[in-house]
Amino acid sequence: MDANVSVDNAGAAPATSAGLAEPAGDAAAATPYGDPQAGQRRYQQALIAAGLLIPSGVDGVYGRSAVFEAIADGLNVAVSALGADQRAEVMRFPPAMSRKDFEASGYLKSFPQLAGTVHSFCGSDRDHHRLLARLEDGEEWADEQRPTRVVLTPAACYPIYPAVARRGPMPPQGLVVDVLSYCFRHEPSIDPARMQMFRQREYVRLGNAEQIIAFRQLWMERGQQLAGLLELPHEVDVANDPFFGRGGKIVADSQRELKLKFELLVPINEGAPPTACMSFNYHMDHFGQVWELRTADGEPAHTGCVGFGIERLTLALLRHHGFDLSQWPRGVRATLGGL
Ligand code: ATP
Ligand code: ZN
Repeated sequence: MDANVSVDNAGAAPATSAGLAEPAGDAAAATPYGDPQAGQRRYQQALIAAGLLIPSGVDGVYGRSAVFEAIADGLNVAVSALGADQRAEVMRFPPAMSRKDFEASGYLKSFPQLAGTVHSFCGSDRDHHRLLARLEDGEEWADEQRPTRVVLTPAACYPIYPAVARRGPMPPQGLVVDVLSYCFRHEPSIDPARMQMFRQREYVRLGNAEQIIAFRQLWMERGQQLAGLLELPHEVDVANDPFFGRGGKIVADSQRELKLKFELLVPINEGAPPTACMSFNYHMDHFGQVWELRTADGEPAHTGCVGFGIERLTLALLRHHGFDLSQWPRGVRATLGGL
């Protein structure tokens, strides 16, 4: 089964909206979830007005200011400090992966609506003229392009499983990988916390079932510890991914029942349910099977990951501590590496 290919869910359980700071004149009294979009738009506009996010003309695709990036960097410092004992192998990939590996992952079965593929023009001079003529006439031109061998990375950990599988069986203790990547998900939204391109920092555990369960437990505790150090109101809840279509509901229910995914939620938008800022995932042997990832004794590996949503955590910090970093609590700034 593939009730394990995890994407963030849109936020299910209501939360108390404790102590929201008031960024840039944003009246922040939390209301029941009457019109979540109003709060999302207000926060989006406040972030843009303050120059923290730079609009691109497409919902969910933004530039980031120096202040935004300083917070994002600080979060990576904090996560690294928390994971210093993991002896993780650092891997950094560009935000793209092989289409062949992506096809094998089962992503298109579970989340066709979120996938992003890279297409390029591969035609002749004549085809090129036709493309330009269509462009000039304001007609659709994209079907003049062909799919390349590249797709956009949907979750930071995806490229690592086939890469590790290509090495052959893993060492007896398995492996922990530290990964950071921009990810793409086609989910345009005015919610500043729902971007189309955003960063995930992850620790990924590959090994046997017991190793993954223990790893996930450890990181659920550490995730809450980090949220505490960052002075963010939070709660952890079982979650499911937005599996596509009618069959998807059954898969999502089973994912919840098996408790394969937990999320750490923080209120970000006023009058809206809290937002998943971290996730703790157990994929069972799904990736082990599709990419022939083997443990030292030749069994299909089990895998799990903890994902930190860098943009969402940054937005949560700005929401709760305000837009002026010099006013942030001293301890929060220290946790972020002395911001
Ligand atoms: P898996 O690797 O099993 O697919 P994952 O680590 O990718 O799981 P997700 O829950 O899909 O798990 O994503 C991890 C984190 O990425 C989320 O908790 C969230 O903080 C962030 N995230 C997900 N979608 C978005 C988005 N559209 N915009 C901004 N951040 C997002
Ligand atoms: Zn992951």
